[in-house]
Amino acid sequence: MKIAFFGAAGKTGSAVAARLLAAGHEVRAIELGDEPDASGCDAAVDFTTPDAAPANVRAALGQGVSCVVGTTGWDPAELGALAEENGLRLFVAPNFSIGAVLMMRFARDAAKHFPRAEIIELHNEAKKDAPSGTAKATAELIGGDTVIHSVRLPGLVAHQEVIFGGEGQLLTLRHDTTGRESFADGVLLALSKLDELPPGLTFGLDALV
Ligand code: NAP
Repeated sequence: MKIAFFGAAGKTGSAVAARLLAAGHEVRAIELGDEPDASGCDAAVDFTTPDAAPANVRAALGQGVSCVVGTTGWDPAELGALAEENGLRLFVAPNFSIGAVLMMRFARDAAKHFPRAEIIELHNEAKKDAPSGTAKATAELIGGDTVIHSVRLPGLVAHQEVIFGGEGQLLTLRHDTTGRESFADGVLLALSKLDELPPGLTFGLDALV
């Protein structure tokens, strides 16, 4: 596929773009200050910032190009409606790591058996939004008033712990992302299934795994 990649030089973008190239895709890198030109591409991918992503997605959809977005900290509802009106797809996932998706599934199952849970999410200090999109999505799956603790420190990549508490027992689920290349498997999966999705917004890798 020919892919317009917003943020291809970023920490995550560069790791994912390298895997897309290795998988045989053609990548058009679009950086801050470049025209958001996705025209002629089969799909657009965005790993930028919560401020930049909506304008990039709007531009790509305006050019008739469906989007796969990993940028967190923004609300895709309005652009999902725009995609639907135009018969295009907007796929947004707060976490493209398959292991994290499984952790969320296990958390949803555990929540049926424990009265309370708290989430600790730990990310690199450069991450702009808190709590993380993954933590918010996990809290929604667990339900109730699940508290989220956010840690931002150098040395961290992306980590999440979900602690369930019950009478006389604790259950801890933990997922560690140790390299950003782990997100590429989910992006490749989303690109391969993009055309099969219904027009409009699809949220979360869980829908594809
Ligand atoms: P990063 O290293 O700061 O990368 C962001 C890149 O986007 C930078 O190269 C930045 O350029 C560029 N950029 C900013 N505005 C742009 C624009 N208007 N058009 C094109 N490029 C633009 O950040 P990161 O750690 O890779 O994270 C990027 C986003 O992905 C964050 O929202 C993060 O939460 C999210 N993320 C999601 C997942 C997932 O699985 N869903 C995984 C990891 C990260 P400059 O450096 O010149 O500003």
